[in-house]
Amino acid sequence: MIPPGETIGILGGGQLGRMLAMAAARLGYRCHVYSPEVEFIAADVCAAHTRADWHDAAALAEFAADCAVVTYEFENVPVAALGGLRDKLLPNLNALEIAQDRVSEKRFVEGLGGKPAPWLAIDTPEDLTQALNRIGSPGILKTRRDGYDGKGQWRIMADHDADGVVLTGQALVYEGFIHFTAEFSVILCRGQDGTVVFWDSAENVHEGGILARSTVPASAEVAAQVPAARELAAKVAEALGYVGVLTLEFFATADGPVFNEMAPRVHNSGHWTIEGALTSQFENHVRAICGLPLGDPSLAAKGVEMWNLIGDEARDWAPILSDPRNHLHLYGKAAARPGRKMGHVTRLTL
Ligand code: AMP
Repeated sequence: MIPPGETIGILGGGQLGRMLAMAAARLGYRCHVYSPEVEFIAADVCAAHTRADWHDAAALAEFAADCAVVTYEFENVPVAALGGLRDKLLPNLNALEIAQDRVSEKRFVEGLGGKPAPWLAIDTPEDLTQALNRIGSPGILKTRRDGYDGKGQWRIMADHDADGVVLTGQALVYEGFIHFTAEFSVILCRGQDGTVVFWDSAENVHEGGILARSTVPASAEVAAQVPAARELAAKVAEALGYVGVLTLEFFATADGPVFNEMAPRVHNSGHWTIEGALTSQFENHVRAICGLPLGDPSLAAKGVEMWNLIGDEARDWAPILSDPRNHLHLYGKAAARPGRKMGHVTRLTL
């Protein structure tokens, strides 16, 4: 057990790290955050920060020496750089490695009985032709690694659309398009003793590949698919010997839940838990990695709505605050570029 007063290391310096650090501070921990990014919004709320490259072994070693446990808020941290802090890392390196690659993640989940969209790995133009023959269009071509918020994705609406695709040597995966009725996520937290708790599943609406809105409770169609999705998520957590918050995203379809992707971390579709659950995803992640008992994830209201403030939408903070029902979260980012997550709003129905 790592008692309050100790230091938690966080790899990645964005809004997830910022909200983790705020939850950790409430429990009496100090946080040290590590990121190569110039903009470092988690550092504003942490006791210490290190700005250095992922491959700076000396900086990483010094950072690790200051921390009792190290976690990550960003799943694209190069695994090769983290060998030296493997013993302090939670969730473990294996979980990070699998979740970094869409193909290994799909294979892993399939091995546990999960069903992703039909897919094929694409390395050459011939692979793409074969994928279109076997899976057909419409579909989505995605980079296997480093994609987020719809980046690194190309929609192929008809087979001839693929003619214009120039493969740049990046490893890709082609997925058949799923005609879903809704999207939802399962967020769980697994403690060091193997205890698993689930938050209510949010129904998620994406716009342009970016999460726009999460609503709890989800519709009846989604609710009917949550038990099967939870069963799979629990198997994933168990098989990985996972400690901390784990997120699996699903498409609700007429044939049951189709696995989309997993994130070995706290997730945007769980931001509603800060005000909307008795214990938030951030607090339970801290509790899990420190070996504390987990808090109750039950809903704290009849319903919860969370919407993201993307780009210029964050400029509307004054009208948002003029509605007393709104809880405003701004991440402290300087530039409101289009498509950038600048903050979010949570509203409870009591
Ligand atoms: P991802 O980054 O893979 O989660 O994709 C972002 C969003 O694109 C998803 O939340 C869906 O709205 C959409 N999407 C991704 N893959 C598929 C698919 N195979 N079929 C239908 N929609 C998809």
